[in-house]
Amino acid sequence: MGSRKTGSTLTSDRLNKALKEYFGHDSFRPGQREIVQAALDDRDSLIIMPTGGGKSLCFQLPALLKPGVTIVVSPLIALMQDQVEALQTNGIGATFLNSSVNLQDTRDRERDILNDRIKLLYVAPERLLTGAFLAFLNRVQEQIGIALFAIDEAHCVSDWGHDFRPEYRQLGRLRETYPGVPFLALTATATGRVRDDIIKQLHLNDPYAPVSSFNRPNLYYEVRPKGSQAYAQLLTLVQQNQGSGIVYCLSRKRVDELAARLERDGIKALPYHAGLDDKTRAANQRRFIRDDVRVMVATIAFGMGINKPDVRFVIHYDLPRNTEGYYQEAGRAGRDGEPAHCSLFFGIGDIKTIEWIIDQKTDPQSGEPLEQEQRIARQQLRHVIDYAESSLCRRTIQLSYFGETFAGNCDNCDNCRHPKPVEDWTIEAQKFLSCVARCQERFGMAHIIDVLRGSKNQKVMQNGHHLLSTHNIGKDKPMEAWRSLGRALLQQGLLDESTDGYGVLRLNYRSWEVLRSQRSVQIAIDTTTASRTAPETEANRAVAEALFQRLRLLRKTLADAQSVPPYAIFADSSLKLMAQQQPQSLAEFAKISGVGSRKLSQYADRFLAEITAYRQEQGLPIEPTTPPSSEPLSQPTSLSETYTITLELHQQGLTIAQIAEQRNLRSGTIATHLAHLLEQGRLLDIDSLVPLERQGAVVAALEAVGPDSLRDLYDHLRESYTYDEIRLVRARWLRENA
Ligand code: ADP
Ligand code: ZN
Repeated sequence: MGSRKTGSTLTSDRLNKALKEYFGHDSFRPGQREIVQAALDDRDSLIIMPTGGGKSLCFQLPALLKPGVTIVVSPLIALMQDQVEALQTNGIGATFLNSSVNLQDTRDRERDILNDRIKLLYVAPERLLTGAFLAFLNRVQEQIGIALFAIDEAHCVSDWGHDFRPEYRQLGRLRETYPGVPFLALTATATGRVRDDIIKQLHLNDPYAPVSSFNRPNLYYEVRPKGSQAYAQLLTLVQQNQGSGIVYCLSRKRVDELAARLERDGIKALPYHAGLDDKTRAANQRRFIRDDVRVMVATIAFGMGINKPDVRFVIHYDLPRNTEGYYQEAGRAGRDGEPAHCSLFFGIGDIKTIEWIIDQKTDPQSGEPLEQEQRIARQQLRHVIDYAESSLCRRTIQLSYFGETFAGNCDNCDNCRHPKPVEDWTIEAQKFLSCVARCQERFGMAHIIDVLRGSKNQKVMQNGHHLLSTHNIGKDKPMEAWRSLGRALLQQGLLDESTDGYGVLRLNYRSWEVLRSQRSVQIAIDTTTASRTAPETEANRAVAEALFQRLRLLRKTLADAQSVPPYAIFADSSLKLMAQQQPQSLAEFAKISGVGSRKLSQYADRFLAEITAYRQEQGLPIEPTTPPSSEPLSQPTSLSETYTITLELHQQGLTIAQIAEQRNLRSGTIATHLAHLLEQGRLLDIDSLVPLERQGAVVAALEAVGPDSLRDLYDHLRESYTYDEIRLVRARWLRENA
């Protein structure tokens, strides 16, 4: 026993000495020593460590202590050069081979390697797998031996990750050729799926695979609304912070514009994106790393393995595409462990841009949409939006994404420093979770909420879920409130969701703790949700005010067309009454003070249509249209007549906008007409009104949330479909499903 102890102390001493000698560090960071030891024992490893954790050392130190050459596979040429230079300044024999090295230099370097003067050889995967290089590798193995294959950024083998590179897939072949050489795969990507993929693709043999915590305590996270003041805010952020920073944008164009604008405002900034040639990119990166410029404005093309430890801020000026990507990009701040700032600007407009990007995901060969990828990308986007909109601790949400639970208040994010009030929603959470259980953990959020709120839509009925005891127990709360609860449950790790894009809800052991009342659920009160649940009277007042403004607009349009002052059409007081009482028939309209028979015949249809359109958008009930026969013949423009005119113009091939223009009505009114005509069966086809490829999503939304509220549909579709489109597809759907 005594001798064993001595042995390990000796090894430990030797490791500490080498750490100090070659790298100047006094001690290992958490996890490093065990990884180095595994490599020395010729065991495969899969190292998952957050950016800045100190991964490089995990293969560099064994490389120095083992006989032979360590082959480091690394995807980026610029990064390779930096790492090799850093090693060389520490007096370590290291070199790289890639397309930037000319033939003569390549020969010289190969000779150095075969003469055992090199401990670490960095090489790009596409190079590694060429016939010439594989032959060279054989000579290395024969003459001096290969110590280790270190695969940096190993998540590139997985198409579940955010940076799939097909060449990485081929690396598994090395395992067959050199079965005795250990593999050390490294990544900062933490999802289980990517982890499994790496093990499988690289044929890792019972790897040592510790997972470090992904918490980066020195990073401050915040989300800011992206309004008209966004640039001014960004500039202030950059000015306040004296250190280096990265600003991420979604597109090359926005990168170029923003870099130029910052330059004009006196900030030294450079652009970086895949549209720049290699030389410019490398030069810009170098100038940033060398602190010649302070700010790099970049697309996500910039960053993988950026070795700059003192990045003091990372700003996402546009919404990131997924949580994982956000974590990695923001994680490029503060690798040195010093405080750093991560800001995300969140605007609705970005959602549309990303959705557009997702829609473009097609198979390069067949041109068919990649449905599974698109579905997953949409789910990931939903997570980012939920993150941005959440009132919870940002760190808790990010870590929950990696399966880590972070208890309580981190005191280093906007939501923890400026908390919103919380309420105890344990009872509601129990209702929600038991509904998930009763639906046998086979459905997504929208369906669970439908059941809770007592919907009798097709999907609910088909599955017999109207018979469940949880059906209709949540009628007292609006859909938004249930949705925020559902999101909060996911983000707090109290509920799981499938990652296949369908978002099927499943219970975990914490869900059961909530169900057994062993755990309480607090959720932050979102003011927007709160206002929707406000007392009826207040809600009514808001509706009346909004409708009043719309009626005023309509009045102005009509007045302008006739060159009369608006008050000559209706007084404000009449409009106010219309907004409050919301008449839906000619008879009701006639009762409004200020509406005489002449005005009734002249204007009733337009104002009624406006009121109806508004009520539909708000999801308020609509009275069925009066059948034509019951209308007095004296009406010059009866409701049915106005529909007929719209129908005729539509049949002449006019678009909604053209009809609106010709009739001097709002396009929403025309769409309402057409929707009524569809429901009545007088109009059959909407393909000329709503592009075919846009109909599917609306139908899916109808199936998910039911047809009752246009507003809910609009929200469900993430505001990327117009009310007109939704109204028309819904009308046809109602006719077909009635
Ligand atoms: P990663 O590749 O995991 O993102 P790096 O290997 O680039 O991280 O290391 C990040 C920083 O931490 C580097 O500046 C490195 O010098 C430093 N570092 C690594 N290990 C140690 C250690 N044991 N002690 C002190 N600093 C370390
Ligand atoms: Zn926090």
